[in-house]
Amino acid sequence: MEKIKMSTPLVEMDGDEMTRVLWKEIKETLLLPFIELNTIYYDLGLPERERTGDQITVDAANATREYGVAVKCATITPNQQRVEEYKLSQMWKSPNGTIRAILDGTVFRAPIMVQGISPVVKTWKQPITIARHAYGDVYRSTEYRVPGPGKAELVYTGQDGSTFRQTVYDFECAGVLQGMYNKDSSITSFARSCFQYAIDTKQDLWFATKDTISKQYDHTFKDLFQEIFDQEYKSKFEALGITYFYTLIDDAVARVIRSQGGFIWACKNYDGDVMSDMVSTAFGSLAMMTSVLVSPDGKYEYEAAHGTVTRHYYKYLEGERPSTNPMATLFAWTGALAKRGELDGNQALTDFAHKLEQAAIETVEAGIMTKDLAGLWEGETSAQSVNTSEFLQAIRTRLEQRLG
Ligand code: NAP
Ligand code: MG
Repeated sequence: MEKIKMSTPLVEMDGDEMTRVLWKEIKETLLLPFIELNTIYYDLGLPERERTGDQITVDAANATREYGVAVKCATITPNQQRVEEYKLSQMWKSPNGTIRAILDGTVFRAPIMVQGISPVVKTWKQPITIARHAYGDVYRSTEYRVPGPGKAELVYTGQDGSTFRQTVYDFECAGVLQGMYNKDSSITSFARSCFQYAIDTKQDLWFATKDTISKQYDHTFKDLFQEIFDQEYKSKFEALGITYFYTLIDDAVARVIRSQGGFIWACKNYDGDVMSDMVSTAFGSLAMMTSVLVSPDGKYEYEAAHGTVTRHYYKYLEGERPSTNPMATLFAWTGALAKRGELDGNQALTDFAHKLEQAAIETVEAGIMTKDLAGLWEGETSAQSVNTSEFLQAIRTRLEQRLG
């Protein structure tokens, strides 16, 4: 069979530990035999970030801006223990944070669903994608432990000298105080990324806040979403037969549980932090969660939602062949390849990506899976728990059948 060609390169960001091992094996077993893989390679592994003073991360993010589509392996976010383990000159920042800041994007997380592993919520038939606004609010707040009686005020001084001043609370005893903010520029980027992604994936978009209580703060989110929707996206949504739906956050959680899935749920920063863990756990396994960063101007960075699976890596270093689940990392590749194909009008590439996804799902549905899934399996055949290499080989067999 002739290998599929790629006209535009994909930005490839390699990573750390067990996922770095998976990365190489996925490429060798499932990609390189079938595609003339055209990537611009950035090694975001911790040793290379140390060597380049983290410039490599910035370069990779800028390349994503230029080429439009990237695929990223999980990377270590250093803590003190990692500083010692890797003899780092500094505690480098999270690569995901750096990339997100440069792309100004929103992260969308969705589970890979297979028959035989059912969500805890019985009505869920299709994936629920969570979009989390990853800027501001309580994550950038100023807090104060109020020591005793005294007046707390909210003060704003404009550049023109105008002021706004209001009492927050006249404390009669000790307490707590918090000041938080967000910016129109960030909220509108978030909104555009969400509308864009809804169009890309042809799914309804839900958004919810507590605007009845937070009449300025949350209401501004609601208003900006509506304004942008009406001005820029309404007709595109209508043409695709998808809807934008705003409701109160309390109403949203009830509706989500009763729903069949198949929509995007946009959340403010804190709601997204909490709800994404709830939704992903209810769908099954962290190893089955995909993640894509989408910028408001339509740049895409695909990855797995999980980390570098350190515990498995230490076993691997001792010579074991761990049963680490490569599904989310594989789907990061297929997501990026399909998007590249779509943008370049390269149908063969997009078709290949979809066939590879189907082959992977079919493998699990046939009862062949990694250990983490075997524990969740409710299929008719008994589950055959295999190691990562055996699993990738089983996918390859099915992929070859599909490719004829
Ligand atoms: P983790 O790598 O996600 O792994 C936590 C546990 O979840 C694993 O020990 C494993 O459980 C299970 N697990 C996760 N992915 C799996 C997979 N593909 N197959 C099978 N089991 C899987 O989280 P962590 O151990 O907290 O973090 C490790 C490193 O990853 C840290 O240095 C962190 O900074 C980094 N991290 C990076 C990203 C990213 O780049 N996006 C995200 C999160 C964390 P068992 O051990 O019970 O089998
Ligand atoms: Mg969290």
